[in-house]
Amino acid sequence: MSQPPEDADARRAAPPVLCYPKDTLYVPPLDLYRAARETAQETQRIRVPPREARCFNLSAGSFFRITCPEGAQVGDLNLFAPRHLEERFYSGKTRALYGSHVSVGDRLWSTLPWLRPMATITEDTLAWYGRDADGARVHDVIGTRCDPYTHHMLYGRDFHQTCHSNLTRALAAHLEKPLTEIEHHVHDVLNVFMCTGFTEETGQYFMKASPARAGDYVEFFAEIDLLGVLSACPGGDCGSALGPEDATCHPLEITIHSPAAGALDGWYSPSFNRYSRRHAPC
Ligand SMILES: [Zn+2]
Repeated sequence: MSQPPEDADARRAAPPVLCYPKDTLYVPPLDLYRAARETAQETQRIRVPPREARCFNLSAGSFFRITCPEGAQVGDLNLFAPRHLEERFYSGKTRALYGSHVSVGDRLWSTLPWLRPMATITEDTLAWYGRDADGARVHDVIGTRCDPYTHHMLYGRDFHQTCHSNLTRALAAHLEKPLTEIEHHVHDVLNVFMCTGFTEETGQYFMKASPARAGDYVEFFAEIDLLGVLSACPGGDCGSALGPEDATCHPLEITIHSPAAGALDGWYSPSFNRYSRRHAPC
């Protein structure tokens, strides 16, 4: 064990500085998005069965809503730019910008060198939850996704319906490619409806039962054309001590809503990050 130096307290008392202050970030025009949403028609409805995943495509300027239609259910979301899968949701940078959990007004950013908003959260029926007594919040960008490799490492069992497996299978089927060509594109997720935090003592990632109930939803505005993949996690509400093989699971539902022509006048789908347009690769 290392021994604390004499000035340990003084060293620990250095003031925290935000790594990424948000004051210079462009503020999304939520009023414009909401007005456009008022004009929108539902154009597609996709049911994601428990322990499976489904893909969905939508155009920039549309909305997609993820709902728990029957009961609390965690969803693991991947997002891609449909024409080149290398541009995908960047969970780590999104977390660095907004914190460990996201809600209304936060945006889901894409990987380097593109680094542009893929989607903006416009509605969240669980925004009331805030931070609970355990330090937990809802909709995290901490967790990576459940996967069969970690599952085997920890429990010594083969399990084929993890979110990683479900996302891989759904994306491969959608793109009509072999699993081996697709698996490495599956990435760290937005954990929709998942209630999580870090333990105070050890800083370990913990989960507790999702506060979602039938009818709860999160809605997103698509800033660019998107290919989404959503897995209904085998952990169900992720609050059970039962393993993912035995947890109670519910379906999820994705609905896509397209605004009327002209409802987004003055809005432009974001281009690549300006640095990347000038210099990439750096
Ligand atoms: Zn999962």
